[in-house]
Amino acid sequence: MTATRSSTDLYIGGGWRASTSAELIDVTDPRTELVVAQVAAGSAEDADLACRAARRAFADGWGSSAPVVRAQLLQRLHGELVLRREELVADVMLDLGVPRRVAEAVQVDLPLEVLAGFVEVLAEPQYEERIGSSLVVREPVGVVAALTPWNYPLHQVVAKVGAALAAGCTVVVKPSEVAPLVVHRLFDAAHAAGFPPGVLNLLSGTGSDVGSALVAHHEIDLVSFTGSLRGGIEVGQAASARLVPTILELGGKSAAVVLPDADLGLAVRSTAASVLLNSGQTCNALSLLIVPQDRIDEAAFLAAEHFRSMEAKLGPLASQQQWARVQRLLADSIAAGSTVVTGGPGRPDGVESGFFVRPTVLTHLGPSDHIHGVEVFGPVLVVLGYASEDEAVNLANASPYGLSGAVWSGDLDVAVAFARRMRTGQVAINGAAFNPLAPFGGVGASGWGRELGRHGIEGFSYLKSLQL
Ligand code: NAD
Repeated sequence: MTATRSSTDLYIGGGWRASTSAELIDVTDPRTELVVAQVAAGSAEDADLACRAARRAFADGWGSSAPVVRAQLLQRLHGELVLRREELVADVMLDLGVPRRVAEAVQVDLPLEVLAGFVEVLAEPQYEERIGSSLVVREPVGVVAALTPWNYPLHQVVAKVGAALAAGCTVVVKPSEVAPLVVHRLFDAAHAAGFPPGVLNLLSGTGSDVGSALVAHHEIDLVSFTGSLRGGIEVGQAASARLVPTILELGGKSAAVVLPDADLGLAVRSTAASVLLNSGQTCNALSLLIVPQDRIDEAAFLAAEHFRSMEAKLGPLASQQQWARVQRLLADSIAAGSTVVTGGPGRPDGVESGFFVRPTVLTHLGPSDHIHGVEVFGPVLVVLGYASEDEAVNLANASPYGLSGAVWSGDLDVAVAFARRMRTGQVAINGAAFNPLAPFGGVGASGWGRELGRHGIEGFSYLKSLQL
């Protein structure tokens, strides 16, 4: 076991070590399609070592440690990450091909803010409640398996690890094999921060191999999964077979609804920016724009203008697989009769390689087109029209998902009343900013459980009533 690492090492029990498997997975730069690194295709044996190390660390004191101790270590982790900011930015640019400004502001600085939020919550008085003769307290659930996707690789790990450690749990992380580099760097920071051995462990590899071995491991007390609907169902079923609770943060098809008295131009630009962020690979992207029927063409035109102005500034999609999926969804929608206002299948003009796509605005969908209910996970905006407020609510609630949404109105009370009719975990009113301390999560096919802030920490604990 060593303090320094090669990219193929795993972090288990407080140090870097080689996987028990000799197999490797290529990491590809999505801009060039060149292999830039390799990580280990971890094994079930690695998962077993990591889970046992996490159990020992939980029993050896982390599970009963004082919140102030956990806050100090999380604060140190924050400091170590800040020291490595430039390396983290470079890693995530290779992992995902994102432009520098997105890598800095969203991929790295947002998770730093999220982590600082957990430290803040730990500084507040901890939950305790008297109910009649009972004292109700919270206890950490134990050993957590954290499975994360590739689109915001550092943020998703920090959202789980920060909250789980704050709650007093120990963690085994299995990040996405598509974007692992920035997560390995996070573990350099965690090592330097000085967490007790086994409190935090890192595996690498695919979901079907090491991921499923982790979920099935008898030492795991809770599985926190962020990813696709398909992956969430598989993980949810495997965990519930052992009655292990899950937090599932899945996909979305979130609607921005523009009410008749809103500033259409502002609403469209904000929605277009949301769906272009990270090249559309954002679970809470506002990928459905719902406007008064008589303003569909105006809204689609304004969105298309914005998309064209941004095309050259967008990064690629993260993988060949994701690129091919977006091409297929666009081709299907066009074959079903939708109007392409800008974009369409293929790469932008003059771009020959890399997983780049054309930002696309679709409207006037054909009757058999389902793209307004499908998570595309690319820079694709669908514009729909409504004739009445009830129809706008129905359109916003029509997809199986319920992760996010937006409402625009000149009247705040009207906007709030509309937002309350939306079946979704978050709603931004008149372009209000994302709040990293507010609970984040979905309903329906977007999963269950909440991340971030106090509610995120509470997700990793259970209630205990002491009868006095
Ligand atoms: P994915 O489901 O393929 O994988 C997510 C993670 O789980 C990966 O680490 C993967 O290796 C692992 N995994 C997959 N199947 C598994 C299984 N059966 N057992 C154990 N582990 C398994 O998702 P992805 O393609 O990496 O990410 C994109 C998806 O993530 C999109 O659908 C997006 O909407 C969703 N997402 C949701 C949120 C949210 O907070 N709700 C945030 C970001 C991304």
